[in-house]
Amino acid sequence: MQVVSSAVDSIVATDLPEQTQSVSRADEAARRFRFRVPAYYQELIDVTNPDDSLAKMVMPSGSELDDAPHLKLDSFDEQEQMPVPGLIRRYRDRALILMTGQCAVHCRFCTRKWYVAQDHPMIAEADFERILCYLGDHPELRDIILSGGDPLMIADAILAQYLRRLRQLTSVKFIRIGTRIPVVRPDRVTDRLAHLLSGVNPLFIQNHFNHPRELTRASCQALTRMADQGLVLSNHTVLLHRINDQIDTLEALFVGLLEMRVRPYYLFQCDLVAGNEQFRTPLEKGLDLMDELRERLGGLALPRFVIDLPGQGKLQLSRNDILRRDGRYLVVATPKGEFRYPDVVP
Ligand SMILES: *Cc1c(COP(=O)(O)O)cnc(C)c1O
Repeated sequence: MQVVSSAVDSIVATDLPEQTQSVSRADEAARRFRFRVPAYYQELIDVTNPDDSLAKMVMPSGSELDDAPHLKLDSFDEQEQMPVPGLIRRYRDRALILMTGQCAVHCRFCTRKWYVAQDHPMIAEADFERILCYLGDHPELRDIILSGGDPLMIADAILAQYLRRLRQLTSVKFIRIGTRIPVVRPDRVTDRLAHLLSGVNPLFIQNHFNHPRELTRASCQALTRMADQGLVLSNHTVLLHRINDQIDTLEALFVGLLEMRVRPYYLFQCDLVAGNEQFRTPLEKGLDLMDELRERLGGLALPRFVIDLPGQGKLQLSRNDILRRDGRYLVVATPKGEFRYPDVVP
């Protein structure tokens, strides 16, 4: 039976036994935001545990459909901040290139669902050339982030060519690649790839490890390959409710990363993106964890706690920035004024 109307659909859904209901809602979530997990990562999942942290990051669940009004598909209005197609500019000195819509895994809490949810192929050569022209005209843009999607989904030869073209711009001082490939497809990080990337050194690889169980022999080998080639490694972690929001988990993660020569860079408050409500933590929780981490970790292993606020940009958050509570909202002081943050009520 096909969907007649959403009202009819919901009546039918509540009549189903609970298990079936959640399965069909998970299917619907997977239709709304693509589902993809590489075999390697599937094997890290503990299938005997229905509450497994790694599973929750990548398996669609019906809760993704419970959209709260404060969540948006394109939370940061990125589509309105592209001076040329494929280049997102939210800051004066740095910008981000959407290299491809492809990812090896679709994290259910993805920040860029507006782009990744659709089947965007690799950037067109003409668009890349237009971006290079724009960068040439705007030498204040010295810090360029290749993202998407995951740039390491692009074939070696093509990626190398794009990197070389970018490196030719003398105004571009820093090139970064944001990737989750070393976490979910470590076999992709071959000696050949690491060597090729080192051809444009200094190159900054911003990894995305969220849990110490992701630091396997294989992923650590991938990191070692890159570090040995002189690539500068850092990591973004997203703080995720009941996945990694425990002090011992974060401590193990950040120590484990530093051991692999990866500097923990940011610990992100989960973004206000559609489908993300189940992953969000109260702001206070992140601040408490940071206090605890500062006691346990040296500066090299300690990331900065950052919140990306729609219309504002990334903000390194400290307790003093929270001015007051207003119902479910927290009023946060930002350089651009006050921001009413829809907090999670614990
Ligand atoms: C996060 C981001 C950056 C980089 O910000 P840093 O705080 O320097 O890491 C640049 N451009 C865009 C569009 C971003 O979202």
